Amino acid sequence: MATVIDGKAVAAELRARIAAVVAGRERKPGLATVLVGDDPASHVYVASKRKACAEAGIRSIHHEVPATIAQAELNALVRDLDADPEVDGILVQLPLPGDLRRDPVLAEISARKDVDGLTPANAGLLAQGRIGLAEALELEPAEPPLGLIPCTPAGCVELLQRAGAELAGAEAVIIGRSTLVGRPLASLLLGANATVTVCHSRTRDLAAVCRRADVLIAAVGVPKLVQGDWIRPGAVVIDVGMNRTEEGLVGDVDYAAAAEVAAAITPVPGGVGPMTIAMLLANTVRTSSGARSQ
Ligand code: NAP
Repeated sequence: MATVIDGKAVAAELRARIAAVVAGRERKPGLATVLVGDDPASHVYVASKRKACAEAGIRSIHHEVPATIAQAELNALVRDLDADPEVDGILVQLPLPGDLRRDPVLAEISARKDVDGLTPANAGLLAQGRIGLAEALELEPAEPPLGLIPCTPAGCVELLQRAGAELAGAEAVIIGRSTLVGRPLASLLLGANATVTVCHSRTRDLAAVCRRADVLIAAVGVPKLVQGDWIRPGAVVIDVGMNRTEEGLVGDVDYAAAAEVAAAITPVPGGVGPMTIAMLLANTVRTSSGARSQ
């Protein structure tokens, strides 16, 4: 039976470390959150992020706007937050509703305030291997950070490391190629010297590719897509999926079947989700550290 990778416990430890750093600072970091529309899941995610900020001593600057907001008005709101010296980090909750486009909104965020790590500048630094997980966990860098790493992929790699997974030389298979999870995760795993395969909806014989994996990460959004017999015995499995179903919140992996075969696996909930929030706080604290806040 697989060891359960307790993301909640790892995240709690990181959050305690973050709270201790913030407690020692005269100027408390500030995170701006922008929530557009009425999507219930987005409301839950933003509420959890704001609660985590409060518990860590991070100031929360919150804006809620209707789904009918014009693109130009939303862009202007984010531009103003970017210019506000009280705001250290900006999080625009995605996906945006209706026809609102995310790229023009993200274009208003300076790389140094991009705590989600989604701007082209931060994505480029990660793709070039110039930033990695080691920096992401450095809460008080001597210099302002070169760039910020997306929270969910950073959380996945930290969980792998904490689970004792040997990444150098490992066959790592990622299902999903989104800019939010799959692509940045591939860069982080390459940075850790894994041999990385990225799968997507056009991949031929997904099950066969997954069976090669020493480390298998599912970031798809299809409940229980990954079957028990897709998993190589002894693999480490990270389930990023968060799917609301009649059974409740389930991942992209058939957990019960996978746990029979894997060496270690993350549960849903209680795996990657809490790490995403902890890494968001870490990015906010990092980007407000050192020279910039003086
Ligand atoms: P996304 O942007 O919709 O990307 C999904 C990816 O999965 C795409 O690359 C897609 O391929 C691929 N895919 C879809 N169906 C597939 C199939 N049947 N076989 C193989 N690949 C398939 O989603 P995302 O934002 O990356 O999120 C993925 C999941 O993670 C969702 O459940 C989301 O809720 C969850 N999530 C969780 C957290 C957390 O904190 N735990 C954070 C972010 C996201 P194509 O590119 O070919 O379309």
